[in-house]
Amino acid sequence: MKRTVLVSGGAGYIGSHVSVELSQAGYDVIIADDMSNCDDTNYKGVCRITGKEIPFYRMDFCDMDAVSRLFASEKIDAVIHFAAFKAVGESVAEPLKYYRNNLCSFMNILQASRDAGGCNVLFSSSATVYGQASRLPVTEESPRLPATSPYGNTKQICEDMLRDSVAAYKGIKGISLRYFNPIGAHPSALIGELPRGVPNNLVPYITQTAIGKREVLSIFGNDYPTPDGTCLRDYIDIVDLAKAHVCTVSRMLGSGMEDDYEIFNIGTGRPVSVLELVKGFERVNGLKLNYRFAPRRPGDVTAIWADPSKAERAMGWKAERSLDETLASAWAWEKHLAANK
Ligand code: UDP
Repeated sequence: MKRTVLVSGGAGYIGSHVSVELSQAGYDVIIADDMSNCDDTNYKGVCRITGKEIPFYRMDFCDMDAVSRLFASEKIDAVIHFAAFKAVGESVAEPLKYYRNNLCSFMNILQASRDAGGCNVLFSSSATVYGQASRLPVTEESPRLPATSPYGNTKQICEDMLRDSVAAYKGIKGISLRYFNPIGAHPSALIGELPRGVPNNLVPYITQTAIGKREVLSIFGNDYPTPDGTCLRDYIDIVDLAKAHVCTVSRMLGSGMEDDYEIFNIGTGRPVSVLELVKGFERVNGLKLNYRFAPRRPGDVTAIWADPSKAERAMGWKAERSLDETLASAWAWEKHLAANK
C-alpha cells in the first residue's frame, strides 16, 4: 500500500534531502513550504533527482485554515515538520517572531492531526536541547538543560507539545529526532544548503570562503579545553540524516514502537574539532583555506557529540558516509551553485 508523507519545509536544506530519500524508498511525498527562507532551487532538485513532479503546496503552517484544508484534501499517513525559523542570533533579537512562527505552525499540525483522528508526527529537534552536557557523549536520557536562546527554547517546547499531544489524543504517535550538526550535500550536487546572506554555520562559511565569496573564515575560539583548543561537534552527513527519517517513518507506520512517543539522537558518535574539519576540507578537496583564529562566539558550547546507539538498536540506522565524502560533497555543491548562477 502506498503511504503518503507530508514534509513541511520540504524546500529547505534538510527537508529536500528527506523528500528525496522518502520518494526513493517508495513513499508518496507532498512538499509544503512558504518559501520565506529559500527559493525553488532545492524543490526543483528534488524533482530532478527523483524524476517525479512532487506535489507542492505553497502555504504558511501558521495559517490554521490552510493546514486544515491540506489535511482534508490529502490522506496523510505521516507528517515531518521542518517549517521553522532557525537563526539563533535573530531569535535573541526577535523572540516573538520565533515563538509565534515555530510554535503556532507545529500546534496547527498537531491540531490537524487530532482533527483527522490521528497521524504519525515526526518532529525535527536538535542537540541544542542538551546545552553543554556534563557527560559526553549524550544519550536520549541525558538531561535537557535550560535553553540559551528563544530558538533553542522553541525546540524544547515543540518536543513537549508532541509528547503531551501523544499522551492525550488517541491515534497520534510521535518521534522527535535530535540532530547533531548536519553538513554536506546530495551526491548529485543538485540539492544542498542555501544560506541567505552571511552563513552562520561552519561548513557553508568554509565553502563560500573557498569559492571566494567570503574573504576569510573566522574560527571562533582556540582556547577551549579540547585537544586542539577549538570546539568539538558531531558532524552528520545530510544524506545519512535524511535516511534516518525513512527508518523513523517506517517505524511509526509499523508496529514496532516501544512507546507512542520516542526520541532518537541522530549523529555519528564521533567528535570532530573545528580545526580538524577545516584541515579535512583542505586535504580532501586539494585547496588552502584562508582562515584565522577569532574570539569565542557567545553561546557556543565547548563540546557535544551523540551516543547514536539507540537509533541503531531500534531502527537499524547508523551513519555511513565518511567525513571525507561529506566534505567533498559540500564543495561539489558550492561549485555547482557557482557554475549555475
Ligand atoms: N564556527 C566557526 N566559524 C564560523 C562558524 C562556526 O568557528 O564561521 C564554529 C562554531 O564556533 C562551532 C562550530 O563551528 O564551534 C559549529 O558551528 P555551527 O554554527 O555550524 O553549528 P552549531 O554547533 O553552533 O549549531
